[in-house]
Amino acid sequence: MSDRLQAIRGMHDVLPERSPLWQHLEDHARSVLEAYGYREMRTPLVEPVELFKRSIGEVTDIVEKEMYAFEDRGGDRLALRPEGTASCVRAAIEHGLLDQPQRIWYRGPMFRRERPQRGRYRQFHQIGVEVLGLAGPDVDIEVISMTRRLWRVLGLDGLRLELNSLGDAGERARYRAALVEHLAAHADRLDDDGRRRLTTNPLRVLDSKNPDLAEVIQTAPSLLDHLGTESRAHFDDLCAGLDAAGITYSINPRLVRGLDYYNRTVFEWITDALGAQGTVCAGGRYDGLVSQLGGRDTPAVGFAMGIERLLDLIDTSGVDTGPDAYLVALGEAAQGAALGIAERLRDEVPGLSLLAHCGGGSFKSQFKKADKSGARLALILADDEVAAGTIGVKPLRGQGEQRTLALDALIAELRDTRGRMA
Ligand code: ATP
Ligand code: MG
Repeated sequence: MSDRLQAIRGMHDVLPERSPLWQHLEDHARSVLEAYGYREMRTPLVEPVELFKRSIGEVTDIVEKEMYAFEDRGGDRLALRPEGTASCVRAAIEHGLLDQPQRIWYRGPMFRRERPQRGRYRQFHQIGVEVLGLAGPDVDIEVISMTRRLWRVLGLDGLRLELNSLGDAGERARYRAALVEHLAAHADRLDDDGRRRLTTNPLRVLDSKNPDLAEVIQTAPSLLDHLGTESRAHFDDLCAGLDAAGITYSINPRLVRGLDYYNRTVFEWITDALGAQGTVCAGGRYDGLVSQLGGRDTPAVGFAMGIERLLDLIDTSGVDTGPDAYLVALGEAAQGAALGIAERLRDEVPGLSLLAHCGGGSFKSQFKKADKSGARLALILADDEVAAGTIGVKPLRGQGEQRTLALDALIAELRDTRGRMA
């Protein structure tokens, strides 16, 4: 007997039963992003490994430990993308999109070889945004407003916004010295990663998930105290703009991000409902990345949200997972006419989702399948109805008696309810 094959650990199937919930989130996200004039970009899932090393940074969890990197049969060093920003920037440079500001969004799977647990997978999915060519802080406020609008549309409350500024490269270099002094004084309390990063990339220590380091991190000097005039003004204007927009936030002077390319604004939307995997959306400015990857000097800001974590939070109980109607047909004339009537209903009722029974069977067994499909209505066709040009309509959920309607009257009713749902 052969072994049964299984999906790779940390990589999950989205079954038909659950995909309406994904679509619910994706559809709302798309309409919010389009309401701000953002357009979708689709890039390959596989890129040269060098792209991620040069953007995310060599001394980061992603590049050091998590990337699915491999050599293909031609000897090229490739990687499954662990995130979307590097690819968007690569594509924008490659296709000469940088002569005007770009507001881009993307969605799709990302790959990181982390320890699988709730909210942390090896293939996970993000929806993200990248704005190229605008220095902010007005556009920083725009992208944050956009996320807030999405939470509202999805009925998500209980997310809090944390904010920090990482300053520019010079400011970070001065901060780095102060941080190293602090961390070195507590070197005995660092873990192996922390001690190593003390010399390679000390800011990374602040992003450690190890609870033993929490106190050393909490008492570390604040980045905000090391900002120069311009970075300070950018941050103050950002805060004032958020205040004016009625967006509440808390400033977390130890918030850094797991990727090296960020500068100035960084932010995270966090929930307490998902334990350690509480960040559902994260982003910030990356003004140096475009030139670092060979493009012209271009300021940029963006964010990415984790779809699995958001789906864990939103109340999807009201999302329809079944079709609008299920058509059952009994008798020879009815079965002969059923497919034609189904086509006519789909022609005349825009957006109608109609499941037509296939495979015959008794009235009882067809009805059972109609019930199980999750449909709102059963449409019932027997030979009498076909002769009279009518159809039986029975609500499968909620109250309501079975009625017999002329086909035209049914079409009018279905159009009306679809119209109200759209
Ligand atoms: P974390 O600190 O939780 O590891 P991160 O800083 O590595 O997150 P980003 O690279 O900023 O995450 O990705 C943005 C968002 O994508 C995260 O806030 C999270 O919602 C989601 N995400 C990141 N990694 C995973 C994963 N392995 N599984 C599921 N979602 C993830
Ligand atoms: Mg991570």
